[in-house]
Amino acid sequence: DLAAWQRPLRAQFPIVADRLEPAYLDSAATAQKPWAVLDAVRAYLTTTNANAGRGSYPWANATTALVEGTRERVKRFLGDPRPERSSVHFTSGASEGLRTVARDWLPALLADGDEIVVPFGDHQANLLPWWEARDLLARQGVRITVRELPCQAGSGDYDPGALARIVGPRTRFVAATHVHHVYGADMNVHRIREVVGPDVVICLDAAQSVGHQPVSVAELDVDLLVFSGHKALALPGTGAVWARGRRGPAFVPGGWQGTPNTVGVASLAAALDWLDAAGVERIHRWTRALAAVLTDGLARMPAYEVLGCATSLAADSPVQRRGSIVTFRHRGISAQDLGFVLFSEGFMVRADDQCQAGRSVRDSSVRVSLHVYNTPEEMQGLLTALAKLQ
Ligand code: PMP
Repeated sequence: DLAAWQRPLRAQFPIVADRLEPAYLDSAATAQKPWAVLDAVRAYLTTTNANAGRGSYPWANATTALVEGTRERVKRFLGDPRPERSSVHFTSGASEGLRTVARDWLPALLADGDEIVVPFGDHQANLLPWWEARDLLARQGVRITVRELPCQAGSGDYDPGALARIVGPRTRFVAATHVHHVYGADMNVHRIREVVGPDVVICLDAAQSVGHQPVSVAELDVDLLVFSGHKALALPGTGAVWARGRRGPAFVPGGWQGTPNTVGVASLAAALDWLDAAGVERIHRWTRALAAVLTDGLARMPAYEVLGCATSLAADSPVQRRGSIVTFRHRGISAQDLGFVLFSEGFMVRADDQCQAGRSVRDSSVRVSLHVYNTPEEMQGLLTALAKLQ
């Protein structure tokens, strides 16, 4: 019984546990934190806080061990089959992770005349760094061609056929997104490897999947995977890049020259432990069930249009594959106004252009995004509030 499983888990999130409203429905922006994460932060800061990678006294050693141990923890969480041949680099979030790949890793991979494939309609954190890298390379006399992979209008995911048409013999790199931050679609990324072959480097933005659904770098067969720690229950200012093999330059020259976010690392280790103990597969089933309640309810109200949703809600429709994100528009009320009304009714949602780059976005929308602490009552309450605006 999933509901009996979920109730005590929700109780572990102090910011929502004893609160009926407002309901927090913006976990795709950042997630709330369980006591285990808060306790780990307090324990670290009140016992062994020191700098990492330098110093030889016990607190410094403990902090170094924490950082190194958390790299291994991240690998295990991502199902890394060859942890001795991969590396984990901590960042402030997915945006910095993607930018780090674009700046410090991509140039070493590319020669004059090479091509890369990047998303067209995804989060701008997974668009802009690649174009920036192209311009930087051009200034060094290395001209690369950037090809864009669109999202399909009906479902929001990628079309492997479209990918096959833009991949060529000079394609060296593909940047893709695992779960779309607006459409909630699972983007078919397990199909990318079969299309591009073994030699193309695949970089996956897993900001909306890690912590929400099982993510296995082995199954996905990617070379780089970037995620947000803070969307996976760790502190703000956390994230990581996982890189297969020891190819490529060190991300930060000098390695230990900077002071890492040790508190964030402590929170990330605790968050991954918490997620594993709760069961990411069950979290996925829970948020999928809630998302289904919402999409089914919206489908019965003609005033609303669900984005990235095929017109039918058949069992095999893309909507059914939604994990934790449902985005919609009202046909007569602006997203901003709708967001304002919903807050006055007790719901915190995202209501704007959703961080999509200007060219690919048509209008603003309202996004409801869920995590383990959300409830069916919140979905029913939200539908009741939305129904009043029909
Ligand atoms: N990629 C995707 C798909 C996202 O949803 C987000 C966050 N909205 C980001 C990247 C950026 O993540 P961060 O806030 O950790 O920089």
